[in-house]
Amino acid sequence: MILLDGVGDRAYPELGHLTPLQAAHIPVLDLLARDGANGLFHAALLGQALPSENAHFAMFGYDMDAFPGRGALEALGAGLPLDDTQVAVLAHFVTVKASSHATLQLVDGKPEASDKEIRSLVQAIGDATANGICIRLHHTHGFRGILTLSGDVSPFVTDSDPITEGLPLMAILPWQRFAEAPETLHTARALGAYLEWVHHTLTNHPVNIVRRNKGRPTINGLVTQRAGRLKKVTPFAEQFGLRGLSIASGIVYHGLAAYIGMDAIKVEDTARPGTDLSRRLKKAMAVLDDYDFIHVHTKMPDAAAHTKDPVYKTRVLEALDRGIGDVLKPLLAEPDLLIVVAADHSTPSAGPLIHSGEPVPLIFHGPGIRRDTIRQYDEICAAGGALGFVRGKELMYLILNHLDRAKLHGLMDTPVDQPYWPGNATAMRLENPLAKDLK
Ligand SMILES: [Zn+2]
Repeated sequence: MILLDGVGDRAYPELGHLTPLQAAHIPVLDLLARDGANGLFHAALLGQALPSENAHFAMFGYDMDAFPGRGALEALGAGLPLDDTQVAVLAHFVTVKASSHATLQLVDGKPEASDKEIRSLVQAIGDATANGICIRLHHTHGFRGILTLSGDVSPFVTDSDPITEGLPLMAILPWQRFAEAPETLHTARALGAYLEWVHHTLTNHPVNIVRRNKGRPTINGLVTQRAGRLKKVTPFAEQFGLRGLSIASGIVYHGLAAYIGMDAIKVEDTARPGTDLSRRLKKAMAVLDDYDFIHVHTKMPDAAAHTKDPVYKTRVLEALDRGIGDVLKPLLAEPDLLIVVAADHSTPSAGPLIHSGEPVPLIFHGPGIRRDTIRQYDEICAAGGALGFVRGKELMYLILNHLDRAKLHGLMDTPVDQPYWPGNATAMRLENPLAKDLK
C-alpha cells in the first residue's frame, strides 16, 4: 500500500480550476491508474474531515470504538512507558498574551525556538502534581511534547489548543457524556490548573527574560489536544491473517503500528520527498517475502497542503511520482504483487480547514484486477472507476479479496468469525471420550 497522506484536494483558480493531482504531471501514477481499477475512498462518512490517525485506523480495518486517541498513539510511538490506566495528551509550546478578561490569547502556535531553549523550558515544567494527579511533560521534537497523566484520570477532557491564532486558549472541560464520572472532572481541573501554572512559570523563566530583552516573543504557554488512553485491541495479524509492516516517518504512525502489533521501519523525512519515497519502496521490496501487507507512507502531500500553496503541492506530487517511478520496474516485475495506491484524507491547499471531507482517489493494481477505462490518477477520474466508492474498513476486505484470502462469509473455520481464509483452525483429534460410547 503506497499511502500518499492528504493527497486529495480541491480545485484552485491558480491551477486553472484543477486540483493539484489534476494539474500535476504524474505519468507513473497515471500508468498505475490505467492498468488498474480505480475508485474513491473515504475512511468514515463523506464530508467528515479526518485526521491521519483515525483514517489510518479505519484503513487498517478497525472500528473507531477501539481507537485509543492520538495522545496515546504518539506516546507509544515516542517509546514512553504508558499503561492502560494513564492518559496521554499532545502538548506544544506557544506564545500567548494575557487579556483583560483573565484569558490567554494565542499569538503564535508555532513559535521559533532553539532546542536548547525548549529543553530548559521542559525542565522547568517537567513534573507537577495537581488535584492528586501527576502530570509529566515529555519532550518529543521541536516545540512539541506529550503530557502523561497518572492517578485517577480520564481521557474524556476537551482540548485547550484553539489552533487559530487570535483566539483564546480554551478551558479544559469534561466531555458531556462522561461529565458525571468524578475522575473526568478531577482530570479536567488538574490539567487546567497545570496549564495555568505552566504559563506563570514560563513567563518568568530565564529563557524568556533573555528573549524579552532581545525583543523576541516569549514562549509562555502550553496547549493541549486529543487526550487518549490505551485499550485492548486485536493484533492486525490476528484480525486479518496478514503479517503487517509499516514504513513511515512520524511518531503517530510508529505508535499506531505498535498499538496494532504491526512491525515498523522508522524513517526520517528529508528535503527530497521523491527520494524518500523511493527509498521506502526499496525497503519494502527487500522484505516482500517476510510480510503480506506493507504500508509505505509519505506525509509530504499533506505537509505541502498545510503550507496553503497549491502550486507547491503540485510540485511535491510530481516529485513523489518520480520516486515511485524509480522502483516501478521491479514493482511491476513482481507477479503476485497487489499494489494499492491509497490516501487517508483530503488536505485542502487553501482556506481555513486543516483537513477536508472529500473522498480520495484509490487504485488497485495487480493480478486479476478489473481494468477500467480510467487513464489518470486524480480525484475526478477516480469517481468513474470500477472500484466505485469504498468506505472505511471495506478497504481491508477488498485487499483480502484481491490477495485471494477472503473467507466465504458464513464459514466458521475458527471460533472467531474472522474475514480471512484459511483461518488458524484447530485440527480434530481422534480422542473424544464420548465417541466410544456411541452406538
Ligand atoms: Zn494534515
